[in-house]
Amino acid sequence: MEMTTVAVAMDLIGRASKALDSLRERAKTSKDAELKENISNLYDHFLDLKETVLRIKEENAELRRTIAAQAEQPPKPEIRQFGETHYYFVGEDGPFCQPCYDSHRKLVRLMPLQDYAGGPGRKCEVCSKVFFQSRRPMGPLSVTGDSLDIFRR
Ligand SMILES: [Zn+2]
Repeated sequence: MEMTTVAVAMDLIGRASKALDSLRERAKTSKDAELKENISNLYDHFLDLKETVLRIKEENAELRRTIAAQAEQPPKPEIRQFGETHYYFVGEDGPFCQPCYDSHRKLVRLMPLQDYAGGPGRKCEVCSKVFFQSRRPMGPLSVTGDSLDIFRR
């Protein structure tokens, strides 16, 4: 099993703790008051350090749980306005159809920009809606079925 940095730190703390305990035992028989004082201070600092590393260990575990939970969720798309319409994007990926996502939570990629009677637009192949970023000023309506169909959408 791969050892995490925190696990390495805990292992080092365990070893330092043993060394410090044995140093304290030896110092008990010493008559050097300053040495005893220094060891006592060192012991206090060491306990603080141990407590801090334990807190880091808990924070680390919490962050790992958060990251794992986020990885399980699909990315949340963001809406962006383009001229007169809205598209969904996931980061730089998109554009995706707004009605398809809002009503069915489905990310449907829109077709590349094409020239329609109403102006340049992108079509959704699922809901068949055409999105115009800017509308061409409407001239007299042509009566062919196809273009009328586009104006109604
Ligand atoms: Zn759609």
